[in-house]
Amino acid sequence: MSDADTTDDPGDLRTPIVAVLGHVDHGKTSLLDKIRGSAVIEGEAGAITQHIGATAVPLDTVSEVAGSLVDPTEFDLPGLLFIDTPGHHSFSTLRSRGGALADIAILVVDVNDGFQPQTEEAVRILKDTGTPFVVAANKVDTTPGWNPNPDSPIQQTYEAQSDRARSDLDEALYELIGEMSDHGFSSDLYWRVQNFQKNVGVIPVSAETGEGVPDLLTVLMGLAQRYMKAEMEVDVAGPGAGTVLEVKDEQGFGKTVDVILYDGTVRSGDTVVVGAQNDPIVTEVRALLKPRELAEIRTEKRFDDVDSMQAAAGLKIAAPDLDDAMPGAPVRVVGDRSVEEVVAEVEAELAEVAVETEEEGVVVKADTLGSLEALVNALEEAEIPVMSAEVGDVAPRDVAMATTVDEDKHHVLLGFNVDVLPAAAEKAENEDVRIFDSDVIYQLVEDYEAFVEERERAQKEAIFENIRRPARFRILKDHVFRQNDPAVVGVEVVSGTLKRNTPVGLMEGNDVDRVGVVKGIQDQGEDVDEARAGNRVSVSIDGPTVGRDIEEGDELWVDLPEKHAKVLDQELSDEIPADEREALKSYLDIMRKRDPFWGK
Ligand code: GDP
Repeated sequence: MSDADTTDDPGDLRTPIVAVLGHVDHGKTSLLDKIRGSAVIEGEAGAITQHIGATAVPLDTVSEVAGSLVDPTEFDLPGLLFIDTPGHHSFSTLRSRGGALADIAILVVDVNDGFQPQTEEAVRILKDTGTPFVVAANKVDTTPGWNPNPDSPIQQTYEAQSDRARSDLDEALYELIGEMSDHGFSSDLYWRVQNFQKNVGVIPVSAETGEGVPDLLTVLMGLAQRYMKAEMEVDVAGPGAGTVLEVKDEQGFGKTVDVILYDGTVRSGDTVVVGAQNDPIVTEVRALLKPRELAEIRTEKRFDDVDSMQAAAGLKIAAPDLDDAMPGAPVRVVGDRSVEEVVAEVEAELAEVAVETEEEGVVVKADTLGSLEALVNALEEAEIPVMSAEVGDVAPRDVAMATTVDEDKHHVLLGFNVDVLPAAAEKAENEDVRIFDSDVIYQLVEDYEAFVEERERAQKEAIFENIRRPARFRILKDHVFRQNDPAVVGVEVVSGTLKRNTPVGLMEGNDVDRVGVVKGIQDQGEDVDEARAGNRVSVSIDGPTVGRDIEEGDELWVDLPEKHAKVLDQELSDEIPADEREALKSYLDIMRKRDPFWGK
């Protein structure tokens, strides 16, 4: 017992920060509301507290909600702090010292809908950041024949269901566990999980009826207590460290920053360093604000002024010079260190996100540092080169940057969750820069890839139009319809594609001896543009006289310029039909007998 007081002093353990992620409409907001709602109803002992951008559920309240599932004496962490804005965008924005700010995440998956694109994106981000998470298999109440037992633990309500409902739910849950495995995570229903570091716990819940919510809170609390206690041991009285969630104009205060504080304490009057678009801002906290209590919400003032706040917490800082502050950027209390030291620390943290850029590639803009990083990571994974990456709206100079790329296909700007300024849109239009904007990362990657594919196809088509195609054809016996001016003869195309306006000749030695130009092609009396291998058509050839320059039974070749042969051979050989490839190959073989490097 003797030294337990110093090591287990709850004053030195901060609240774990919890984020909620998942596909749209799978119930993230409803689940957060439910947690807040049940906490309000049950939580007479501790009650929840509303922070700026976050909700704190103290341990007492967790144990009230969890009932028999939680024995509060097993815990010494103060509770859980839920970030109010769900989704991977907020998750990516909220970074701390290079990692994710959230200590634990809840991945919400509609049990009937399973993995969806944003579920996959969330899983990837969780994997990248190494954030422990649990899966809330939501909407269990939509199982056919479900008989709800509001707010009860999941196993209790599960036992009370019909066999049919139970087996339907089981099936959906196993499918979900299978999908988790497809994405590289071994998972199981949480009560079967022995080691939460190896297996992800799946918790069936309903955000509608509150069933399973006691289990969810219990598992989160248990996970944090068992595996994260060391990370929660911070010097809560020390200089505060946090992350900018949003930069907002607030009446009476000017520009303010909403901050999630994950370490230490901030006091009114403290000197703080805030990460910004350019140099870090050094300023003094004029006011620390938190939301007014619910009872007082009708009063004019929306915020309460407080003297200090301790991690973990969400708060608003009013201070001069915050205009350039950047969402996702670090906030540090200077404390008894030197301002230079703290500025250097903030700069170093910002530099971590500085993206490695290529000389040519896409121009990337995003609304926060974290989302910029997440987008650039996704682009890297898709092997899409990035030329520049910055936080902020799309401005004309970004468009100008995009035009510096040589390669046409990379005149592209990708904007994530940002506005395109009208002047930038106009410039892009005039200078043929494509801007893609979306608030879904995978959408941007997909749009870009589809665009490049389309462009390349169009480019190939344009090349095709201007390139002569190889062909070889034979003059048929008894098919001379006109001797000359032009000669008109019946032919059979042996291989390749014979087009109009193509110079043709006889193969003499190892070269084509040009005899004239195919002017027109007729197939059964109809004018056509081309004839394919196997076709018998009549052609008019400007230049030769039958009987003198060409004869019945002669084989003629399209006279292929070396450059065209090279492009066909090296770039388009997948695009041309097999017989044309064959014609090209024979042609190259003949030419290379004379000059081994012909067309290389
Ligand atoms: P979000 O986009 O992930 O935040 O999803 P919402 O919380 O907005 O939920 C989307 C829809 O699903 C809403 O109409 C909710 O009422 C509904 N919903 C969410 N959770 C549940 C649940 O557990 N059961 C049922 N029946 N409906 C739910």
